[in-house]
Formats: sequence, C-alpha cells, structure tokens
Amino acid sequence: DYAPGGYLPVKVGDAFSSPNRRHPYTVIRKLGWGHFSTVWLIHNKDDDRYAALKVCSAKYGATARDEILLLEKVRKRAYKNVKTRHGHTEFAQHPGARHVVALIDYFSTRGRNRGDEHICMVLEPLGENLLSLLDRFRRRRRSESTLTGIPIEIVRIVAKQVLMGLQFLHDECNLVHTDIKPENILVCLPNVQDYIEAHIARSETWPSQRVSVPPKHVDGRKQHVDMYHSQPIPTPPLPSNLLNGGWNGSANTLSSTSSSRSRSRDGDFYGFNVQISDLGNATPADKHFTEDIQTRQYRAPEAIIRRSDWGTAVDIWSVACMIFELATGDHLFDPRSKRGSWEKDDDHMAQIIEVCGDFDIELKMGGKFSRDIFNSRGQLRNIDKIKPISLTQLLTETYNYPPREAKHFATFLEPMLRVDPSMRSTAAEMLLHEWLGPRETGDYSRLPQSYESYEWSG
Ligand code: ATP
Ligand code: MG
Ligand code: MG
Repeated sequence: DYAPGGYLPVKVGDAFSSPNRRHPYTVIRKLGWGHFSTVWLIHNKDDDRYAALKVCSAKYGATARDEILLLEKVRKRAYKNVKTRHGHTEFAQHPGARHVVALIDYFSTRGRNRGDEHICMVLEPLGENLLSLLDRFRRRRRSESTLTGIPIEIVRIVAKQVLMGLQFLHDECNLVHTDIKPENILVCLPNVQDYIEAHIARSETWPSQRVSVPPKHVDGRKQHVDMYHSQPIPTPPLPSNLLNGGWNGSANTLSSTSSSRSRSRDGDFYGFNVQISDLGNATPADKHFTEDIQTRQYRAPEAIIRRSDWGTAVDIWSVACMIFELATGDHLFDPRSKRGSWEKDDDHMAQIIEVCGDFDIELKMGGKFSRDIFNSRGQLRNIDKIKPISLTQLLTETYNYPPREAKHFATFLEPMLRVDPSMRSTAAEMLLHEWLGPRETGDYSRLPQSYESYEWSG
C-alpha cells in the first residue's frame, strides 16, 4: 500500500512544511493508521507544540478534502456568542465541541520520487482509541475471570461524552458521523503538551530507520509490519474510584460516583475525556454520498436494508452497540453468514429482532435490500429460528450483571436501539437520561442544566 497511489512512506525525522508555518513539522514517531492514512506524532518549532499528522493515501485525495471541509465546518460551529439563562451574552465553546477532534492545520505534500499528492491534516494530539483501551481491560479481566469489559464508571463517562460530541455534530453542524465505533473514539491526554514531552523524555530513542513498510495480511487481516509498530501515547493511570465503581461497591454507587474528575496519585486532577475522531465518513444529514454506511456491527437497521432516508439516528444506534461492547467486551450484534443458507444481513436482522423484538412491516420495507431479507409478509426469508432475549436477560445471564444494574443499564440502551429511527432517542434526549448520573459533576460544572437554556445565536 506504500506503492504509488497508496500511503506516503514516512520516517522518523522527516520534515513536512506547511504554508501556514515558519518551521516544518518534524516526525517523532508513528501513532496509528487506518484504511485511508497513516498517523504520526509531530512537533513544530513555531510554538513548540506537538500534534498528530494524518497523512492520507494518495488515491483518497478527494475523501481527505471532504474530511477537511467538514472539520473546518466543525471548527466554525464550535464557538459562538451564547445568551445565558441570566440574559447576558458570552463567547463560549459548545460543551459538545470538546468531544470532537479539532483540526489545527492542513496542507498537501508530494511523494519524494513521484508526483503523488498526499493531503495532510494536523490534528489535536490524542491518546489511544477505545478498542485498545478495551483490549487491555479484556485481557486483565479475563485473567481475573470476571467481567470482560471496561469498568462501568468509565463506560458511563464515555457514553456521556460521546453523546455530547454527537449532540454538537448533529444539532449544531447538521452532520452524521456514520462510523461511530471504538476505533474512532480516542482518549484525551491531560496537560497534553507537557504530558507528551514527558512521555518522549521517558521513552527510548525511536529507531531512525524507515518505519513504514507495506502492511501484510496476518490471519486474513491487514496489518502494518513496521520497524517500529505504531503505538499510541499511553493513557495515564485511571483514578481508582473509576476503576472500582459499580457493583463492586454498594448497589447504588452506580449513579452517585459518576464523576469524571478525580484526584490521581500525584494529586493532580485527571479528568478522563474522550473525543470523537475520524470524520472521514461524515456527511451532511440531508446530503448523502452513499447508502452503504457504517461498520457492520454498529450498522443501524435502516442502513442494513439500505433505506435512502437515514439520518443522525444511525449514529445513536452505533452508540448503543459501542457502549454495550465497552461494558461487556463483546459485540452486541455480530452477524455471520452461513454458506448456502443466509447472508450477514439476514443474520444481522435476526439478531436485532431477538434483542429488540419484531417490528412493523413498514419499517422492514422501503430499502433497496428489503426484499432480499424479508418476504412480502415481512418475515425473514432465510432464517426461521429466532430466540428472543431481552437486554436485561442478556446482561444478567451472559455477563453476570446483578439484576438491578442490568435493568438500569438496559433502560439506558433501549431508547437508542429503537428500530424505528423516528422513535429512537436523539443525543440531546439521551443526555438527560438518569443512567448518566448528575448533570453537572466534575469537568462539567459549567454545563447548563439542559441544552435548551443555551441559546446559540447564529
Ligand atoms: P479508517 O480506516 O478508520 O477510516 P483513517 O485512515 O481515516 O482510518 P483515522 O481513523 O483517522 O484514520 O486514524 C487512524 C488511527 O490513527 C486511529 O485509530 C488512531 O489510533 C490514530 N489517530 C488518529 N487521529 C489521531 C490523533 N488526533 N491523535 C492520536 N492518534 C490518532
Ligand atoms: Mg478510523
Ligand atoms: Mg476514516
């Protein structure tokens, strides 16, 4: 994939100049990669700051430009004159904008020996993504042979912040992300510039060799086999009250301990924060480029049947799938095909019906794939064994949740898993759900009681 048209080969020490900077950005090491890009930790001498550089693959130039346009729109909408409840006006950042990655700069560069143009985005530097955070807990929890997800107090914070970010994207920017999943939610770093500097000082020197070689297929999955594997900047130790919260303590600590801010060992406050990243597939709610959206396990029913009138509600469905996964360590829906019997879409719909119940034929029809999945009576064409199971049952029976907590958690997930997108709760509505706990704790002491009390003037 580093062949012409693909990724730009990048190595530690490389310099990228931007028309907006006096000094070039220098590459420190690799942070991550995706289908469209490789992502690097960089430093710029102009202001002595670290950032993340997303170097897009040459063949996805158009996609990268679209992503930049959306990131700029997001940047413009983040700050506004706000009329507060007390009647005065202040210039303020939308509370949800803090939970969406910010674009700092962008430019394009050409491959050294060829004419390929690579679009580069300079982004706020962030830490690991939630899949890698989940993997660490999964491993640890397995060895303890108990629950296999992220501690519920952390899941609660993630849920709240992702919904805040989405409320901003949906209601202020009129954008649908379309790819909400653990890989695209990144952990924020505390005192980020000092933190990164300290991290670099602590680390061994990075190899100076070329650090990118083409990805290889390992177990059928594409992996970058690099001189130096991409590594996120490590998440600082999580405050113990977040790790021990939930049903390890008394039964009703669940909503009372949901503070996203707590004192860490060295006495500093470390507010655990996350941001929604990767706007590469985001689209205006009313102007679609495709009906083929979302990553399989997080795909909303209206997108599975390929309806053309999907909107912001598809992201909410993904949030529920993701939050369930973070809490349990398992996908909520993980459809498989069975050769000669059914396709993934059939199994996906069957799994949805099992958990969410059967639904109206009007909701089943109207999509390009409806007729492949359902017959004219609205029954699944290729699958007839359906084993209904409620979310509460699933949580207690499979994941050992105490019944009370299971029920409470299920009441939070249920409004986001309504098959009818017009009945599915919006991000703004979900933010009022009591499972998220008191609304103005910790970091959010400045948050208004409800979003309605903030009037965003154009
Ligand atoms: P995809 O195939 O998911 O569309 P992509 O090429 O659009 O991938 P991203 O998802 O934006 O790329 O980024 C790829 C990875 O790089 C992320 O999963 C993350 O690990 C890392 N990364 C992205 N942005 C940042 C950032 N701002 N700070 C730190 N690491 C980042
Ligand atoms: Mg991604
Ligand atoms: Mg992307």
